[in-house]
Amino acid sequence: MHSSIIDLIGNTPLVQLRRVSEETGCTILGKAEFLNPGQSVKDRAALAIIRDAERRGTLKPGGVIVEGTAGNTGIGLTMVAQALGYRTVIVIPETQSQEKKDALRLGGAELVEVPAVPYRNPNNYVRVSGRLAEQLAKTEPNGAIWANQFDNAVNRQAHVETTAPEIWRDTDGKVDGFICAAGSGGTIAGVAEGLRAKNADIKIGLADPHGAALFSYYTTGEFKSEGSSISEGIGQGRITANLEGFAPDFAWRISDAEALDLVFKLALEEGMIMGGSTGINIAGAVRLARELGPGHTIVTILCDYGHRYQSKVYNPAFLRQKGLPVTPDVPSVTEALF
Ligand code: PMP
Repeated sequence: MHSSIIDLIGNTPLVQLRRVSEETGCTILGKAEFLNPGQSVKDRAALAIIRDAERRGTLKPGGVIVEGTAGNTGIGLTMVAQALGYRTVIVIPETQSQEKKDALRLGGAELVEVPAVPYRNPNNYVRVSGRLAEQLAKTEPNGAIWANQFDNAVNRQAHVETTAPEIWRDTDGKVDGFICAAGSGGTIAGVAEGLRAKNADIKIGLADPHGAALFSYYTTGEFKSEGSSISEGIGQGRITANLEGFAPDFAWRISDAEALDLVFKLALEEGMIMGGSTGINIAGAVRLARELGPGHTIVTILCDYGHRYQSKVYNPAFLRQKGLPVTPDVPSVTEALF
């Protein structure tokens, strides 16, 4: 028996990814973060940030939590906020999926949609959320805080303290590599820190989508991006506070076509309907497996459900317009009967 939904955050299982394990001769495991109650990896950071603000006394009963988010952090924050008696104001780029916006509204968040512009632009969603929090802190009777997932290292710490020890425990310490993409960078930097503290030889890989600049930064020292990606929640162009002091052992730039192919196969062959960032992660896991060679155990993150992107990742019309591969047709077993 649990007294609140927030008790169900974390302790997600590892599940073997059959096809990519067979293809590489490695054991590739996905950490099923989509099974968190808010249905994404971001529940962990959301809970940690709220608990930290409570401890420091900045978040008061009935207070408002403001955040700029691609969606999942906002969904996590809103779930925790409703369970604990706070309110959320979520600033989201208008390009993010309708499904995530709907989930936020359903949960009781107040949504502020802004144009998708780069971080250096003052109208960028993260910067708007920071200003809004400052204003609301003055006008709201119970005050307001800015969650600030990108530059609040409590996010990274949540993964040091929960995600990494869970991976270590559930593999009995037999883990050779970890790889994922970075949005805020909390997951990759936190898991890397936690796992490297247990075994300094564990290899950490970054799977970077097109449109992001971290692959270029970690391989050449320069922030350069190339192309674009339909994946949401990942693709960073700067060293956030969560990424400070972190460096991967390997980095790869992954195309949407490669990621989508893996996502569709995972849905149709293994029964897991995942979002686009999970595809980027699994493609990265395949690269890391090939780098380390057969016989190794590699862990990656299954970030969220594909249902959050039905209008994009699972929408053939949208994909065709972008020149991307579409979900394969499933042969009918009843056709001959009608
Ligand atoms: N995948 C999805 C779908 C996300 O929403 C996010 C977070 N924005 C990530 C991956 C990346 O997680 P992190 O912020 O910890 O780098």
